[in-house]
Amino acid sequence: MTTETALIAGTTAVEAERAALEATLAELESRRMSRFRTLIEPAAAAQRRAEELGDAQLAHRARLLTAGVLLREGRSAEGGQAAHQVLAWAERHGTPYLLARTHRELAVFYRLVGDGSAQLTHAVQCVAHLTDDVPEAIRCRHLMALAVALDETGSHAEADRRFREALDLAVAVGEDELTLYILNNMAYTAYEHGDEAAARDLVARMLQVRDRGGREFSANELDTVARIEMMGGRYAAVEATLRAALDAGQSTLVGTEGDALAECALTLAEARRRDGRYDDAQQALDAALRMCAERGLHAVRARVRQEQAALYAATGRYREAYAEHCAFHADATALHSTQREARARVLQAVFEATEARRASEHFREMAHRDALTGLHNRRYVNERLPALIGEAAVRRTPISLAIVDLDHFKRVNDTLSHSTGDTVLQHVAEMLEEAATGPAVAARMGGEEFLLIFPGVDAAGAAQRCERLRLRIRGHGWGPVTGTLPVTVSVGVTTVLDGRTTPSAMLSQADRNLYAAKRGGRDRVVMDTGASAGVHPRGADHR
Ligand code: GH3
Ligand code: MG
Ligand code: MG
Repeated sequence: MTTETALIAGTTAVEAERAALEATLAELESRRMSRFRTLIEPAAAAQRRAEELGDAQLAHRARLLTAGVLLREGRSAEGGQAAHQVLAWAERHGTPYLLARTHRELAVFYRLVGDGSAQLTHAVQCVAHLTDDVPEAIRCRHLMALAVALDETGSHAEADRRFREALDLAVAVGEDELTLYILNNMAYTAYEHGDEAAARDLVARMLQVRDRGGREFSANELDTVARIEMMGGRYAAVEATLRAALDAGQSTLVGTEGDALAECALTLAEARRRDGRYDDAQQALDAALRMCAERGLHAVRARVRQEQAALYAATGRYREAYAEHCAFHADATALHSTQREARARVLQAVFEATEARRASEHFREMAHRDALTGLHNRRYVNERLPALIGEAAVRRTPISLAIVDLDHFKRVNDTLSHSTGDTVLQHVAEMLEEAATGPAVAARMGGEEFLLIFPGVDAAGAAQRCERLRLRIRGHGWGPVTGTLPVTVSVGVTTVLDGRTTPSAMLSQADRNLYAAKRGGRDRVVMDTGASAGVHPRGADHR
């Protein structure tokens, strides 16, 4: 095997691994929502593999999967931090797909912490970034995120349109679990708006999907069904529906959220009260209260108190009803402030993490800067120059590079002082920064040696810019700094027209030209031909 074919074979193997990893991620991203816990291990493994392959895009996709699991497990702060970090990266380097997915997780995060407007902002973005090639099941979940956000922020008609779009999609791709989830959301919304006919239609569709063998109803879904039965005064049906849920218990019901069973007991109590079965109602309510206490369900507990007040009132115990009503108000108020505090804590943790990231970017930036002049340093050039040459090679555009060295700089240090020398270096650095317009880069390579990189600039352009810089430096009002001692520079410039070169080849050619400039008497610019480029009338451009 020749070196070249070995290289190609190596590249192909890495490409194949990348493609396999991408397929794995796509499968994980499309996994059913109720199976989110099965993502933990494979997502972590995928992230490690992507990092080994040096593929940041795939690593961030894997990281986002982990963030999603954390959010769904109730670890909001950790999940939110991770999702924000992925967003920061994705906004600069991410594909639209990664951006869309990140915004969706952030919409989930902000719903959990109760910030409706941020939730809506991210939900809108999670749909806006979808491209035509995104799998339907993913598109469907994003539409749902938007529908839920619109509904919770009061745009019901807009929400309804997205719910319907999502529903059509879920049905079209045969995603039963997603279909049930959407129908349940729509049905509960219809119930809240008092639209019994619409709610019953939706429940009928939920039953169809269930009977087709999708899966059993979850406690949340059973509660929706029961509430809609209650709207029509069908209390026996409520009883039958909810007894099944409450008897089965938490463990045997699928995809049951933490507060679903307490909700079921509360619904049962309300139905029994409306049916005039006050003792049975009290039993159900006591059960609901126990679950709230056991699981710390403060939001449901406030509603349990409200129902208790209604039950007392129904049995003529007005004094107790009034007391319970007051307790409900106290609970609800406390709840809001607890929620506010919890939300503030979570948001603070997230933003502290964002700040920490900014700080580390700041330090990384500092590592690429020269402390005395603030110019880029050699480390930066070592990283950036290969990329700039690579771009020139791809685009077949010219690139020029100039080494700028102060003449007889030792004299400044020796006859004046080292700190005067520093000041001179700082002034020269400012003039280099001015000369580095557009995509050009100015750097201090060390000592009194600087570098200019001019992407897209040919030899004539580079000669002109360097000559202008040379004149600007020698013409600067140095008197207050160096007295009568002049400050001049010698410049070695090199140009490659099609980017076919290497950083070290360019640097050594520029260095040879610099040496020629020094040998030729200093205070001049030498190009690749070896001829002085001092062809421009002195002072033409200089202030
Ligand atoms: P030439 O025209 O041949 O370049 O002569 P030169 O004196 O400029 O070159 P040489 O390399 O002999 O000396 C460079 C001097 O730059 C030596 C060193 O003291 C000084 N120098 C390097 N870094 C710094 C710095 O950070 N601050 C100051 N003040 N002087 C520095
Ligand atoms: Mg020098
Ligand atoms: Mg030098």
